[in-house]
Amino acid sequence: MRDKIVAGNWKMNNDLAETEELLGKLKLQMVKEPEATVMVAPSFTNLYPTFQALKDTPVIVAAQNMHESESGAFTGEISAAMLKSIGVTTVILGHSERRAYFNETGEILAKKVKTAIENEMTVIFCFGEELEDRKNNRHFDLVEKQLKEGLFDLPQSSWKNIILAYEPVWAIGTGETASPEQAQEMHKHIRNLLNKNVGKEVADSTSILYGGSVKPNNAKEIFAKKDVDGGLIGGASLNAVDFVEIVNSF
Ligand code: PEP
Repeated sequence: MRDKIVAGNWKMNNDLAETEELLGKLKLQMVKEPEATVMVAPSFTNLYPTFQALKDTPVIVAAQNMHESESGAFTGEISAAMLKSIGVTTVILGHSERRAYFNETGEILAKKVKTAIENEMTVIFCFGEELEDRKNNRHFDLVEKQLKEGLFDLPQSSWKNIILAYEPVWAIGTGETASPEQAQEMHKHIRNLLNKNVGKEVADSTSILYGGSVKPNNAKEIFAKKDVDGGLIGGASLNAVDFVEIVNSF
């Protein structure tokens, strides 16, 4: 049985007061024991207050990024040890916005993943094609390349700490979602790649989330697909009612 997961990526939204307000609403809306594992990823400055506010709930708090080095002269960066020191043991890596705006290459991401695993953290690894890739029928190859660069050198034993998030860039924040069939087709491809490159056990047990304009009105259909194990949610995760509706969409 694979974990069903719904993770909210709050990106660079909400100051402390707004975060506290959202957390209050979330706690009101959320059932005590949701069927899915629920995660939220606030900005760095809001990580600790979020962790504190949610520590008596099953909700897991994740960081949106971290640096690949253990420590040192990297002004403005955050290390795995810093995250762990406030109780945060899950991190999103490889989000398309990090790849596109902050030049995070496959090589850098492989280092980040390695550091996270060495620190016994869980990684939500994001990847996905741009519209041009899909138009030119390169989306399957592109996804294979991103997985190969970031993850396929990991030993089998590390995969229990990996959650995959397929996020076609053309669907992120655009209101345009991949159809449930498109999502299933890619997730099946990803599982086949895991089978071929890492082994059947990992292919069968790794959760693969879909991300890209998931909303309360489309989550059920997408999550119903065989190889879709949940979602990474951007915009809709900033609204407690919408997010909880998505969490309850299995
Ligand atoms: C995301 O940024 O990971 C995302 C899926 O955003 P949205 O749901 O807003 O498309």
